[in-house]
Amino acid sequence: MATSHDGGECVFEAVALKKEYDDGQVQALRGVDFRIQAGEFVAIVGQSGSGKSTLLQMLGALDHPSGGSLLYRGCSLAERPDLASYRAHDVGFIFQAFHLLPTFTAIENVQIPMLESQRTAAERKQRATDLLGLVGLEKRLHHFPAKLSGGERQRVAIARSLANDASVLLADEPTGNLDSENAGVVMDLIVRLQQEHHFTLVLVTHDPGIARRAGRVISMRDGCIISDTLNSTP
Ligand code: ADP
Ligand code: MG
Repeated sequence: MATSHDGGECVFEAVALKKEYDDGQVQALRGVDFRIQAGEFVAIVGQSGSGKSTLLQMLGALDHPSGGSLLYRGCSLAERPDLASYRAHDVGFIFQAFHLLPTFTAIENVQIPMLESQRTAAERKQRATDLLGLVGLEKRLHHFPAKLSGGERQRVAIARSLANDASVLLADEPTGNLDSENAGVVMDLIVRLQQEHHFTLVLVTHDPGIARRAGRVISMRDGCIISDTLNSTP
């Protein structure tokens, strides 16, 4: 059982973290504890309804915990006055359903997170072009999402998640809507980017093959962590 690693910088520390819905009728997280170090690739596994997405939403400050504490780099997220900035600059998100804006092209979707940044319009456009090149979509810059395959849409979403140089990437079943070939391409891309850029990656998956590629696997059941183990050969 490994709940923390020696050395390195602690990015997240959860202590007795709880999340209830519907006035306590649903206990999605029943008090979970973990530490995640900078640069780790952690897979979160468990059956449907076990609390995986809820946990990721807490890490991304998309929702508030009901109890316990969650520290990001030593500071409580609950006490941060600038959660919008945290969501925009500290963490990147990739979702199963891509969540691209349908009326914007690929290059425009990638620029959206940068609109509030210091970058000029020309810099935003150049960076979006570079990021789409990084995910192999240099020939799809001006396509609308409806004209892209599922795998291509997810690659646009990956490029978008990297736009503001977030040090943490949160991915909720990023290959869940893809056929096995596209799922393989997307996972290879995420793994390669994580190895090259050394961001902290927390990835929810149903797929044991994907979980084996992580450095560490946290397994959940009924809102609890039932195991937390290091992979010997990630
Ligand atoms: P997983 O991602 O592992 O499938 P979730 O975190 O989505 O699980 O859900 C955990 C539990 O919380 C489930 O019982 C689910 O029905 C419930 N739940 C999730 N989101 C909400 C919500 N917004 N309102 C009420 N219940 C919710
Ligand atoms: Mg889920």
